[in-house]
Amino acid sequence: MNIINSNLQFKGLSYGNNPDLILLHHAEASSCTVYDIHNWHLARGWAGCGYHYFVRKDGSIYTGRPENAIGAHCPNVNSHSIGICAEGAYMIEAMPEIQKQAIIDLCKYIKGKYNIQKILGHKEVPYPTDCPGINYPLDEIRDAVMNNISQPIEQSKPQTQDSEWIRSIQHLCNQLGIKGANGLPLDEDNIFGRNTEYAIKQLPVAKIQGYHNDLYTRWIQKRLGISVDGIFYKECDKAVRDYQASHGLSVDGQVGFNTIRRMIGVI
Ligand SMILES: [Zn+2]
Repeated sequence: MNIINSNLQFKGLSYGNNPDLILLHHAEASSCTVYDIHNWHLARGWAGCGYHYFVRKDGSIYTGRPENAIGAHCPNVNSHSIGICAEGAYMIEAMPEIQKQAIIDLCKYIKGKYNIQKILGHKEVPYPTDCPGINYPLDEIRDAVMNNISQPIEQSKPQTQDSEWIRSIQHLCNQLGIKGANGLPLDEDNIFGRNTEYAIKQLPVAKIQGYHNDLYTRWIQKRLGISVDGIFYKECDKAVRDYQASHGLSVDGQVGFNTIRRMIGVI
């Protein structure tokens, strides 16, 4: 991926942008450059190009304002987002493949840099706009960027087990309203795939004098073969520590991802 430095001259940027999401826009203009955008935004009395990046239809990527500068692309999120604008009018046009791929590459780069977990279209903030247009391939771009992070697991075969503990933790996640990486409830298919891994990582760490959820504690107690009363107290703490000690896990009495993973038979 090549990012072209546009060398835009800004008039009074504010800094301190702390990105936790990527916001996608279209220019609503079939043909334009980052310099056009810059001039349009200057004419509005802004510091200059409101976006952090601009991607042309030929797939070339241009810098807008610096990443650490507060954006001017959506009032609700300007202080914690990276704004990417695509050349084109995607209410009516279809996005060229090469441009889509460039946006995916750019999003992957930014996602990795800031550990961003959220990519939204402008209208999804939500904000009263039709930007980036009904033809903008939001889901396709989002899927391509988000799925990449779990590539090692996706590429390995999903691990199936004889036991039902994966299905059982999937059921628990669904009961607790914890979703998969795709934002949906888990399939209770007893297969440890990307969505199940993601959901398990969202489970709070369970421990004595810490997070307590009756259903979750009952699941742990059932798994450890101790009395099931939904109360994470001394007996449960000891059972967790014993389990960890006998399974080569660090013995901290805390049921987090590594312990759960072992409990459901995924090494
Ligand atoms: Zn927009």
